[in-house]
Amino acid sequence: MNNCAKIGSTLVVGGGIGGMQAALDLAASGIKVYLVDNKPAIGGVMSQLDKTFPTNDCAMCTMSPRLVDVGRHKDIEIITLAEIKRLEGVPGNFNVTLSKKARYVDEKKCTGCGSCIEKCPRKLPNPYNAGLDTRRAISILYPQAIPNKPSIDKDECLYFKHGNANSVKKPARRRP
Ligand code: SF4
Repeated sequence: MNNCAKIGSTLVVGGGIGGMQAALDLAASGIKVYLVDNKPAIGGVMSQLDKTFPTNDCAMCTMSPRLVDVGRHKDIEIITLAEIKRLEGVPGNFNVTLSKKARYVDEKKCTGCGSCIEKCPRKLPNPYNAGLDTRRAISILYPQAIPNKPSIDKDECLYFKHGNANSVKKPARRRP
């Protein structure tokens, strides 16, 4: 993937709170921003926190307005599931090549209704919440995620593994 304009645009790597604020500040200066994150959604580590030190502020209350502003800004293009593969050029004129993983969900067609997540039979420990709850093989990173679209974990999806989403093992029935 190589779609960053050479002049008049910037690349912000990492969509955590710092990356989001940098993207908003740059976009407010009239500069086109490509905000790249390797996760299916921006938000970074702060999205996983409840409170922040030392003020004990609610992390999501600090983040949510920025998430919304970044998601809606016409001059910020969010590129998820992507990593830098090659960086060439000189300050002021870089050429960046990204490698992007598939989401396996068409972001343009998906409305984020969540029906696919409800139907998915494959439950897994959720690393986003340190394994304290479960997620499905198709999931949205967290409820307020931007973009609020699911992605499929190809390594855990039963359809990808066996060609059949009903091949999940059901618990044996107890005889009365
Ligand atoms: S959330 Fe799932 S079911 Fe709903 S539109 Fe998106 S892909 Fe389809």
